Amino acid sequence: MSKNVVMVGAGVANVNAATKLIDNGFKGKITIIDMGKNPYDRKYSEVMEGFLGAGGWSDGKLTYHTSIGGQLSKYTGEEKAMELFDQVIANFKRFHPKPEEVQCSNPIAEPEFIKPYFGLRLFPVWHVGTDYLHEIGKNWYDFLVEGGVEFIWETKVTSIDFDNNELFIGEEESFVDPKNWPISYDKLIFGVGKSGIDFGKALAEQFELPTESKPVQIGVRFEAPQKHFQKLIDVSYDFKLYRKYEDKGVSLRSFCTNNNAAYVAVEETYGDHSYNGHAKKDESFRNDMTNFGILMEVQGIDKPFEWSRDVVKKLQIDGTGLYYSPTRKPSTTSEGENVSAIQVDTLHKIAKSMQPYFMYVYDFIEDMKKVFPTLNDDWGIYVPEVKYLSPEPLVDYTNLALTKYPNVHFVGDALSARGITVSGAQGTYVAEHILKS
Ligand SMILES: Cc1cc2nc3c(=O)[nH]c(=O)nc-3n(C[C@H](O)[C@H](O)[C@H](O)COP(=O)(O)OP(=O)(O)OC[C@H]3O[C@@H](n4cnc5c(N)ncnc54)[C@H](O)[C@@H]3O)c2cc1C
Repeated sequence: MSKNVVMVGAGVANVNAATKLIDNGFKGKITIIDMGKNPYDRKYSEVMEGFLGAGGWSDGKLTYHTSIGGQLSKYTGEEKAMELFDQVIANFKRFHPKPEEVQCSNPIAEPEFIKPYFGLRLFPVWHVGTDYLHEIGKNWYDFLVEGGVEFIWETKVTSIDFDNNELFIGEEESFVDPKNWPISYDKLIFGVGKSGIDFGKALAEQFELPTESKPVQIGVRFEAPQKHFQKLIDVSYDFKLYRKYEDKGVSLRSFCTNNNAAYVAVEETYGDHSYNGHAKKDESFRNDMTNFGILMEVQGIDKPFEWSRDVVKKLQIDGTGLYYSPTRKPSTTSEGENVSAIQVDTLHKIAKSMQPYFMYVYDFIEDMKKVFPTLNDDWGIYVPEVKYLSPEPLVDYTNLALTKYPNVHFVGDALSARGITVSGAQGTYVAEHILKS
């Protein structure tokens, strides 16, 4: 059994990995390093960093289907993937102050009224609730600390030497300071999420890791009063409308729907702004709004990562993203501040920056107006919403270890995940391997 497991990132993936190890009496040392804060000190404004990572301040929606949230069954097979999902959901319930409030929505039939414009992807979702994530975080953290996990907070890992099993914190000139001496590992689990995507990419280049290429995923965050969508929300809370243009290599889907107390959130990646959304459970936050991403997946773009970054850059004005609405103004965040965005009067800049693809988003909105007849011009879009799928390092599918470095495992959004359940499941999968080996 490996003695010294070091995890980079205290996000959903690694927290689940550590839990699996502790639950099974792992005898070695577990160290988790994160550039954010522990759940007691983490502020609401720290969206991406700290205990449970982006999942800690997310909408707490645990999707329960292998076609959603990134790839898992590709590595594990369908049956194993579902078993891993169960373990992640069980963990969220276990540390939940009111586990009985975790509910599952499970739509079963596509409603007639959305046809022929859209398909609806049907899958179960467990709702944990944003408001409980803080408490879950504290309970979970206490359990891991009691189990002997050593956490190193507010510490950024700046480089890793895969050849010599060492990682470094701080800048090079500070390495003389004993507190910044390299940290050695027998096994490394790399789970830096979206906030560490640049770091993962740099390591892949530095160590010439073989990669699998990825499609582009880009679009807008759509927002409108909930009443226009209520008929569909009654069928599926987190509805996933989709359509495909097979011959063009383009597919679109509505993504991560938030209702009742739904807020748009700014995400900062590579210094640029993009948008996401979350919902509060507490009734005092109710604003009767709905928001969701309209995300396009585009196949066949040469250098998809660079292309997406370039488009996102073009969609910034004065260091923030754009908002367009025929009638509305940008909303406020759950903290009552204006969502950072520059309102534009026309779609011209958006269409030009995303060309030739914005027309697919435009058609999607136009067709929603047909399916939801009260919608008309009562909506707005925050632009862009983006999922940076950097080329995925090639891993051994049985344990998510780099093919070149079998003691280094990539997990969560740093690999191929795009959600809480898949990220947690990948962490658990790696921990199972460590326990076996
Ligand atoms: C606003 C928002 C809402 C979301 N809502 C949902 C939802 O409802 N359902 C869902 O399934 N998914 C949701 N997601 C996505 C989900 O949170 C992520 O897919 C998931 O958290 C990824 O888990 P991870 O462990 O890979 O990374 P993360 O949970 O992001 O954790 C990565 C951790 O690594 C740390 N880190 C990064 N780089 C370094 C470094 N160099 N050194 C040290 N530490 C580092 C970060 O501080 C962070 O804590 C949401 C995301 C956001 C931003």
